[in-house]
Amino acid sequence: MAEAANISEKGALVRPPSIAESVHQRIYERIMALEIPPGARIPIDGLSRDLNVSQTPVREALTRLEREGLVRKAHLIGYSASPQLTHKEFDDLYKFRLMLEPESARQACLKLTPETLADIEAAAADMEKGEQPVDRNSRYSRFARADAHFHDEILKVADNATVRQALNDQHIHLHIFRLMFHTRVTQEALEEHEQLLAAFRAGDPDAAYKAMHDHISFSHDRLVAAFE
Ligand SMILES: [Zn+2]
Repeated sequence: MAEAANISEKGALVRPPSIAESVHQRIYERIMALEIPPGARIPIDGLSRDLNVSQTPVREALTRLEREGLVRKAHLIGYSASPQLTHKEFDDLYKFRLMLEPESARQACLKLTPETLADIEAAAADMEKGEQPVDRNSRYSRFARADAHFHDEILKVADNATVRQALNDQHIHLHIFRLMFHTRVTQEALEEHEQLLAAFRAGDPDAAYKAMHDHISFSHDRLVAAFE
């Protein structure tokens, strides 16, 4: 974990992870990488043998993943990986984002201080400079988290708790990245984030609105191919 010291993000990666944390991370990565396919059952005993840990941290991780929308629990059946989004659910989600995120970017731009701009810049930088991923799978799932964090920093600055909660409740990035696991999404998204940062640095709320609108529209168009 030598790289962890480089991460400025408030303590998130500074401590070595607990057993519960690392079990959560490993299951999370398997789900994101589709090694546990959408809809597949997740037997607790099998997973605990597989990860060589007791069932307690596995149960804790699954409870947390259920809150994150990545697994479901059914009576008598137990846990399974959440199904993929349908095309309609995907389109609805993007329309929802377009209603809320561009305006949130405008509001954030109006409320920016040097400190909050620095927080947003740090979140953007984390996407490029985070911990060295061990393989392609963890690269994608970490990118998904870093992207969610970046978008959430903007919502935090926009300072509308209702909007922020409504978006966070959808766990958008987790579903999108799982859906799009086999496609190339990262580089173009980073360039679009850069446009957004440029608008924030220039203190231009209309440009921030447009940059976020473009980013979400382009993201939709890149990803919708998964349904064709
Ligand atoms: Zn993004």
